[in-house]
Amino acid sequence: MLSWPCAALPEAELSGRTTIRIGGRAEWLLEPAHPDEFVAGWHAARERGYEPRVLGGGANLLLGDGTLPGVVITTERMGRVFRPRPDDELGAADEYAPLLPALTPLERGADTRLVAWAGCSLPGLVRITRELGWSGFEGLAGVPGHLGGGVAMNAGGRWGELWDVVESVRVLTRAGELQQLERAQCAPRYRDGNLGGAVVLGAVLRFRADERAAVKERVQGYLREKSAAQPVTEHSCGCIFKNPDKNLSAGRGAGQLIEAAGAKGLRRGDALVSEKHGNFIVNRGRASARDVLDLIEDVRARVADRFGLRLENEIKVWDASAS
Ligand SMILES: Cc1cc2nc3c(=O)[nH]c(=O)nc-3n(C[C@H](O)[C@H](O)[C@H](O)COP(=O)(O)OP(=O)(O)OC[C@H]3O[C@@H](n4cnc5c(N)ncnc54)[C@H](O)[C@@H]3O)c2cc1C
Repeated sequence: MLSWPCAALPEAELSGRTTIRIGGRAEWLLEPAHPDEFVAGWHAARERGYEPRVLGGGANLLLGDGTLPGVVITTERMGRVFRPRPDDELGAADEYAPLLPALTPLERGADTRLVAWAGCSLPGLVRITRELGWSGFEGLAGVPGHLGGGVAMNAGGRWGELWDVVESVRVLTRAGELQQLERAQCAPRYRDGNLGGAVVLGAVLRFRADERAAVKERVQGYLREKSAAQPVTEHSCGCIFKNPDKNLSAGRGAGQLIEAAGAKGLRRGDALVSEKHGNFIVNRGRASARDVLDLIEDVRARVADRFGLRLENEIKVWDASAS
């Protein structure tokens, strides 16, 4: 049996680690509890010839039904949030050190920044900043997942994106190098942090001081709108497709194109195109990855036939059969 520099599970079930509740197993699942452990686990995997995959909250992922060969590293146990040290003490090397004082949630101060490890939950960060009366993260209300996945995907919507609050990110590049990237060095795009495949280990986030009541009201308003428009209480992996270029779609989003193409309500097995929002596929019980992948192609074909547009996946697919 292989040994690893962090907690590790062989043949680990993955479906419960995704919001759509689909997926087989990982040959190895590593569960580092600290960014340094993550880096050690990543290097150990590479030394053994594996190209590790990174799993955040599994909220934008469709995992294949079989066993994924190799190593998956989850950020699940890397959920800490800190206050940064004052600027003059903020050395890149120890910025994410566990010695930093843990956050006191209700404390307010002039420095409206947080240091968050990759596994912090996005809803948790919405809650913390709402309680602090800090603005900038309201647009992430109702978006599941972890900070690292959110930075990698540039999660967000019409009320704001994650990169709006990123001051810097700590990454592990594909070449295995640790880097601290300032916001100005990065060029995030629509639903893409554009980090060249680097792993996000943590980030410094900068918010704006505001009134707690005002932040709370915006969060509640966005949550209400989101739950009225999207199947938020069902098992899904968020929006399946990216919105196409508005010039090509006459301003319509993917969900509107899918609805107009008559694809709402299409199903394969227990996978169903949501009646509430056409860009969501929900798992009504025992849907398999195959069901969802086939349904995605059905929807794509309908939209292409009707509008001559090819919808591009927003979700990431880890298909064991394709690995
Ligand atoms: C009900 C529902 C509503 C949603 N609403 C929205 C929305 O409004 N806006 C929106 O943008 N998204 C939305 N999503 C999708 C999802 O919440 C976001 O994409 C989120 O950022 C995914 O983060 P995650 O940690 O779950 O990433 P995962 O799904 O675990 O991973 C997604 C991708 O990011 C990579 N990744 C994960 N962690 C890291 C890391 N630390 N470093 C580098 N790469 C990493 C993975 O390898 C994978 O390629 C929704 C999803 C659901 C289920």
